[in-house]
Amino acid sequence: MQSTTSPAVATANSTSKYTKTPITVAYGDGIGPEIMRATLDIILAAGAQLEIEEIEIGEKVYLRGISAGIEDSSWDSLRRTKVFLKAPITTPQGSGYKSLNVTTRKTLGLYSNIRPCVSYHPFVETKHPVMDVVIIRENEEDLYAGIEHRQTDEVFQCLKIISRPGCEKIVRYAFEYAKNNNRKKLTCFTKDNIMKMTDGLFHQVFDEIGAEYPEIEKEHWIVDIGAAKMADTPQAFDMIVMPNLYGDILSDVAAQITGSVGLAGSANVGDHGAMFEAIHGSAPRRAGQNLANPSGLLLGAVMMLNHIGQNEIATKVHNAWLRTLEDGVHTYDIFKEKTSKQKVGTQEFAQAVIARLGQSPTLLKAVDYPADAKKIEVKVTRRTPQVKETIGVDVFLNWVNGSANDLGKQIEKASTKNLKFVVMSNRGVKVYPNGAPETFCTDHWRCRFEHPEGKAISHDDIIEVLQNVRKLGLDFIKTENLCTFDGKKGYTLAQGQ
Ligand code: NAD
Repeated sequence: MQSTTSPAVATANSTSKYTKTPITVAYGDGIGPEIMRATLDIILAAGAQLEIEEIEIGEKVYLRGISAGIEDSSWDSLRRTKVFLKAPITTPQGSGYKSLNVTTRKTLGLYSNIRPCVSYHPFVETKHPVMDVVIIRENEEDLYAGIEHRQTDEVFQCLKIISRPGCEKIVRYAFEYAKNNNRKKLTCFTKDNIMKMTDGLFHQVFDEIGAEYPEIEKEHWIVDIGAAKMADTPQAFDMIVMPNLYGDILSDVAAQITGSVGLAGSANVGDHGAMFEAIHGSAPRRAGQNLANPSGLLLGAVMMLNHIGQNEIATKVHNAWLRTLEDGVHTYDIFKEKTSKQKVGTQEFAQAVIARLGQSPTLLKAVDYPADAKKIEVKVTRRTPQVKETIGVDVFLNWVNGSANDLGKQIEKASTKNLKFVVMSNRGVKVYPNGAPETFCTDHWRCRFEHPEGKAISHDDIIEVLQNVRKLGLDFIKTENLCTFDGKKGYTLAQGQ
């Protein structure tokens, strides 16, 4: 992971070999304050050298009417420290609130989300004794762009945005992480059999960049069967890189099947900072009862300590924590009569880890984080843009007054010399001409117009079509240009076209 702070160095009259590193801390909502207190107690007892700046984020801030869930002054702290240890927060339901987690990751450019999911057999009960998978989730794009619209009475839309630089950054990060951490295999999950252009790009970039890493075994799975395989046989995977949404869902699955979603930490890194957290949420039902497992946030803090160069503290904390699991001191979520010895609350668990600082596990593999861990720096070189030509337009209509044939016969009349009507689809399925009578149609229609010989058209040509649509009394709700790039079509055909 790349460090954005100066490396810690020894000072003559300090008892620690590390100097204090400024970090920003947020206690969050729900179980957040309890697990953050426990985490800070452990890492400070282990000797972490931190200068903590606290900020308030989440529910209280949302309810003060700040829809982003974070005050402007808090961004100042984050920009200053560039290191954020964050407890989970509750995102209020309803369209007036933006997810602070997504905002933070995107605003600070934390494009890579690293989520190690490890099982601790035989000390934590799991169906998968041999599991050690690192999920690398793309953090800025995909359906999380948050661009959503209600277009008609019946139809809502969310845009899935995938960019070439976005894919290149995350895929290269994943290969570099594999190299640095001695991982042997990197798997890519996409749904490119259906989303041929967006997920297709992610897969293509995986193949292109993967060719530069001959020492790493590479494979690609369609996400649905890949997810099934991961839930059933996780030992078949070493690292998995995925677009944002699949990574979000499947890292929860992966953490849960190690024994508890409360066991996994997560690092969000980018060129200008890093944020460390648990992968789970604020579990409001468990809040205020001293019940929650602080392990996920603690392992996030271990990643943070490595990030700021305090690797010896990270090693000490991680090993004491492994020893605590081995000794059967477990919070409720992983407590099992067969494998556990003592059921403890959040605070008592923290005290048990503190009591073991300096000890190592006996059966589980102890960690030893190196001081000179190579920083990952991903450079994306923007390539020369391909030649773009617009050769058609999709005009989307809101229409409820009859059958597909009724509308098709009208919309054909909107054709012009340069843009001829080609096909009409409803929810992506061709319905005119020659649609199937069985196809269910909503009030949302896409009408495709193309240049008859595939030649370039102008914006004026599109406006002429729209003038005709307006004269026909039809309600257009948006247009989407149909382009070629270096002569290759940049759009898909309608299903059945
Ligand atoms: P959740 O992850 O908060 O909790 C689901 C269940 O998992 C809990 O009821 C509990 O049984 C268990 N669990 C989670 N963490 C645990 C822990 N540390 N110890 C023991 N058991 C634990 O998911 P949710 O209930 O869907 O979401 C609650 C809120 O959290 C929502 O407002 C959501 O938006 C938010 N959330 C925040 C983050 C974040 O801040 N990074 C991430 C996910 C969800």
